Amino acid sequence: MTLSISNRYYLLKTSILLLGLILLIPSIVLGQSNKEQVSSLKNKKVVYVWGGRLHQPEKTVDLFVPWLRSEGAIVEVFNTLEVYADASVMEQADLIIQQWTMGEMTKNQSKGLQNAILNGTGMAGWHGGTGDSFRGNLNYQYMIGGQFVSHPGGKSEYIVKVIDREDRITKGIKDFYVTNTEQYYMLMDPNIKVLATSKFTKASYLKKDSKKNENVVTGSIVPVIWKKNFGKGRIFYNSIGHNIEDFDVPEIMEIQKRGIRWAAESKYNAKEDLISPVYNY
Ligand SMILES: [Zn+2]
Repeated sequence: MTLSISNRYYLLKTSILLLGLILLIPSIVLGQSNKEQVSSLKNKKVVYVWGGRLHQPEKTVDLFVPWLRSEGAIVEVFNTLEVYADASVMEQADLIIQQWTMGEMTKNQSKGLQNAILNGTGMAGWHGGTGDSFRGNLNYQYMIGGQFVSHPGGKSEYIVKVIDREDRITKGIKDFYVTNTEQYYMLMDPNIKVLATSKFTKASYLKKDSKKNENVVTGSIVPVIWKKNFGKGRIFYNSIGHNIEDFDVPEIMEIQKRGIRWAAESKYNAKEDLISPVYNY
């Protein structure tokens, strides 16, 4: 059978239309994940800084760096705080991940880190490696939005309550339980956006028959996961992670990954309004 020119034209037009539909349908169905791709780590420059006296910072490198690279991030790993004073690295950085408990920054390092964040480099971290890093450095604490002061009872078990179920970092994640890890009691910036909290529910956090005095915290509720802006930079923090095994809890790993992705976008996406005062005025 031979086709007339008009038939051929009709066939061609229909084929193009069908092909267009086939190409269009997945992008409609997957619209949400396409948006997520915009916020991916692909080609983001990540500076991973580890060190300090406590925790297992080197193991976190083994856990997170392969994942960051699998997401397309360009990762540089530093076992020194000197990188913060290196403007050529810091100006390029989209994200800092820091695992450095209880150290000290020089004036230049502190200034370098702060300037980078003010200018739009994000920062994402967890536990003491970010929330108990430089105890004498007020500028650092101002930037992170909280500072560790105690983990009553040492290792403990507690429920993490997701209080923001709309935010992209905690969306779809239910309250979860963590065991054999530290429950951080932190001094807080009262205007950050808190995503999850935990409650101190035990009558006492002293060991049985302990002769120590205790500051009773029973009934206290303390933020566990939050986000905030510092200048143009996005800050994400999660207080869980004393043990590397804490990241075996699927909820905490998922939240940490989402927080990292979110914080890496400061230079590319609009600044969110994250001022969330907890007191009435
Ligand atoms: Zn710890």
